[in-house]
Order: sequence, then structure tokens, then C-alpha cells
Amino acid sequence: MNSLWLSENKNKKNFDSLNENISADVCIIGAGIFGFSCGYYLSKAGFKVAIIDKSDVCTKTTGHTTAKITSQHGLFYTYLIDTYGEQFAKDYLFANEEAISNIKNIIDEENINCDFEYQSNFVYTTNASEVNTIKKEVDCVNAIGFPANFVTKTGLPFDVAGAVQFKNQAQFNPIKYTNGLCDCIIKNGGNIYTNTIVYDVKKDNDFFSTLTIGGTIQSKYVILASHYPFINFPGMYFFKMYQSSSYVIGVDTKKTLFNGMYITASEPTYSFRTANYNDKQILLLGGSSHKTGNPINYEQSYLSLENYARQLYPNCEILFRWDTRDCITLDKIPYIGQFSNVMDNFYVGTGFNKWGMTSSNVAANIVCDMILGKQNKYAYVFDSTRVKPIKNRTEVKNMLTESVESIVIKKFKDSNVSFDDIPNNSGGIVDINNQKVGIYKDTSRKYLRSKACLYSFGMFTFME
Ligand SMILES: Cc1cc2nc3c(=O)[nH]c(=O)nc-3n(C[C@H](O)[C@H](O)[C@H](O)COP(=O)(O)OP(=O)(O)OC[C@H]3O[C@@H](n4cnc5c(N)ncnc54)[C@H](O)[C@@H]3O)c2cc1C
Repeated sequence: MNSLWLSENKNKKNFDSLNENISADVCIIGAGIFGFSCGYYLSKAGFKVAIIDKSDVCTKTTGHTTAKITSQHGLFYTYLIDTYGEQFAKDYLFANEEAISNIKNIIDEENINCDFEYQSNFVYTTNASEVNTIKKEVDCVNAIGFPANFVTKTGLPFDVAGAVQFKNQAQFNPIKYTNGLCDCIIKNGGNIYTNTIVYDVKKDNDFFSTLTIGGTIQSKYVILASHYPFINFPGMYFFKMYQSSSYVIGVDTKKTLFNGMYITASEPTYSFRTANYNDKQILLLGGSSHKTGNPINYEQSYLSLENYARQLYPNCEILFRWDTRDCITLDKIPYIGQFSNVMDNFYVGTGFNKWGMTSSNVAANIVCDMILGKQNKYAYVFDSTRVKPIKNRTEVKNMLTESVESIVIKKFKDSNVSFDDIPNNSGGIVDINNQKVGIYKDTSRKYLRSKACLYSFGMFTFME
């Protein structure tokens, strides 16, 4: 089932595939919220941008998000202060706060009708033993200069033991917003090509050649906005991230709904927000997260959310079901900036840790400032080339067991599967003429052979 956002996308944007060689100032690989945010700022600044996507625009993670726009990324600031100190935590928070204002400014300036509304965001617990942790987070956030409140009353249809409230956060319809960005990019002379898979990027002297089957894009700058950075070397992001899947249901509760956006302080995660659908408000309930690739009962992931919705709203009707995944970094901070220290003019924004609405705007501002040769005071926080010892042992274990084992080694180990072993709507590695080739099989058993595998080892890790 499509997400709420994609199912009611009345102004769906359609573009041609690339079928010639072209040139641009900046080639942006990926038409999700990050690629479009970069495209918006750069085309407005007078750069000729070309945006390339292997699918239709914004139909991947951005089309399946819950679209809360907040600087409150869970119980995060206690961790940031403990790990990196107050100034770092403050810069992280205010980078994201600025992103909320930036998004609102774009919406106002460009007249984008995207159901944007200010809401408080809450991280809550129903567990009395977690109240001190909640209070500590409130103190930490206040200490770095942002007014967080400790509250025990929320709009949720059950009692909480305590919650951290951030006021003046927001929610919107992400597809209406990105459609608006898309119109601006076109108006500013940008070009967008869809259903065009990029399989490699090469550098010749001062220019990059972005290679697709239909043609090559020559540009001075490249931004890898493909969500998961499919080019493995020299960035090696597969070593530094893993993916986590989550599920969302859209529910007609048949009741008047609450104000505010909510997420649990600890596992199991439940996320609540309201959204407009057919002139009424529905509930978006998210959760059932797990590491992507772990064996799970897919149906059960939805059922547990649906059962929870029915427990809260016995007469409710389930209208939508969707799921997607996001990249999780080991230190919980996105990677934004140069793709690698040894590749000038090649940029990346990834690892948004399920907070990509603000993070994509932070990333677009940092990357655009780099291209424009401007200082960005938040860039150091998100430095994509950082080499810091990871203090978080759990995440180091995740890295070893999930990123390396499941994404790289296991795929090689399992590469002797046959075409028939690969389920529909899935990808896999098969041997063809003694070469390991990635294929994707759709529901009609047609398959897309990843030509890029023949060129680059990197493609093994981005089969979807
Ligand atoms: C269930 C869920 C709920 C979430 N809720 C929230 C929320 O409430 N608030 C929040 O802030 N964040 C949320 N997030 C996170 C947020 O949705 C993402 O971080 C964000 O949408 C990522 O945007 P993106 O542009 O990086 O990626 P995408 O939207 O995935 O865009 C990347 C694009 O690159 C294209 N691409 C990939 N490879 C290639 C290639 N080789 N050639 C050409 N094109 C390519 C893809 O087709 C895709 O269109 C949530 C995430 C999940 C999983």
C-alpha cells in the first residue's frame, strides 16, 4: 500500500529519463528531500543543476516518512553533552532549529501549500522509572539555551509518567513540500531526470562524469544524495552506517485527535502525529523498528501497530500501511560534507537517523555553503570525514554485525543463489559467467541487472 503522501499526490511530477550526454555546474544524484533541498538552494544561487534519480522523484524514503520537523531527536542532548560537550550539543540543536525556520521561510517565500503547522514535540515515557532520565534531558537542553519543559499532561489518549516538550516544532506533508521545491528548481532552470540509474562517478581533471546507461553528466560538483551512498570507495560509508526499518499506519480513529507530535523515550518505539486526509484528521502511528535485513515477520510488524491502535481507539479503521528505512550512523550524528578527504568537490549527506526533515535542510545548507566557498558554523558537528573513536559500544557491535556482515560479507557468501531463489520485489547477487552480478526482480519476475556491478564493486551494497 502506498503512503498517505504518495497516494494523494495529485500533482505528481513526471520527468524523462536521461538519453544524451549533458553538462551542468552541479550533478545531484538522488531526488529525495536532501537532493531537492540542495537543488533548490543552488539553482536559486544561479548554479545550473541536474538532478538524476533511478525512480520517480521522492518515492523512496522521503515519500514514506512521517514528516515531523523537529530538533528533538529522541532523548538526545544528554548523550551529546556527555559525549561531546555543551557547545557541540548546542550547535547540533541550533542547526536543527534553524532548519525549521529555513523550511518555514522557503514555504512562505515560494508559496508552497504543504499543510505546514507548528506543533509541540514530546518525548514521553509511561514508565515511572524513566522519569529521572526525562528530567535530566530537560535540564541538559535548558543548559544549552533552549527552553524545554518537563510535563506530565499531554494530548495522548493515555497517561504518561513524564515528557520533554519542545515548543514551536512542526509537521507537514513532505510530498507537497518537495513538489514545491521541484517547481522552484525547474523555474530556476534546473533539469531533473528520473528512472535513470547512476552506476558510477569518475573524475577527469577538474570535472566529474556521472555515468548512467542513457548518458553522462559532466559537472564541476557532484552531490551524492542517494540516501545510502552507493559508491563505496573512498568514503567507506558501509563501515560507518547500517539501516533501520520502521512501519507506519494511517488510522481513522473516529475520534477528535490531539495536538502535538510524540515519540517514546525508549524501546519499543511508538510515534504519533496527526495528518490531513480527505478533510479530516487521521492518526499516523509509527513503530515496529528493526535493523534492516534482520529476519522478521513483516505482517506481524503491521499487526502489532494495528492492535495497539485498536487498543487506543476500539472503533478505528486502518486506512494506510507503509514502511521504509533510514541510515543510522554509529555516533547518531549525520554525515554531511565532503564525500572523502581525497575527493574535492564531491559531497554527501546521509545517516539522517530517522530525522531527515531537519537534517536534510542542515545538510543542504552545509553542502551549498561549501560549494559557494562560505563558512558554515555548524559544518564541524556533522563532518562526514570525521574519524572519532566511537564510544557507543552497542553501535560498534551493530557496525560489525550489521554493516559489515550483512551488507558486504554475507552478500558475497550467499552469491551462489539462483534467479529462482530471489523473491519477487527483492534483489540479490547471482553468478553470471563467473561474475557476481546484482539483480533486482520485480513482482512480474522481470529483472533489472545491475550493469554497474560489472564496473564497480560499490554497487553490491546498494541493490534495493
Ligand atoms: C518510517 C520512517 C519515518 C520517518 N519519520 C521521520 C520524521 O518524522 N521526521 C524526520 O525528520 N525524519 C523522519 N524519517 C527520516 C527521513 O524520512 C529520511 O531521513 C529522509 O526522507 C531521507 O531523505 P533522502 O533525500 O536522503 O533519501 P530518499 O528520499 O531515499 O532519496 C534518495 C533518492 O536517491 C535515489 N537513488 C538512490 N540510488 C540511486 C542511484 N544509483 N542512481 C540514481 N538515483 C538513486 C533514490 O531513488 C531516492 O529517490 C523517517 C524515516 C523512516 C524510515
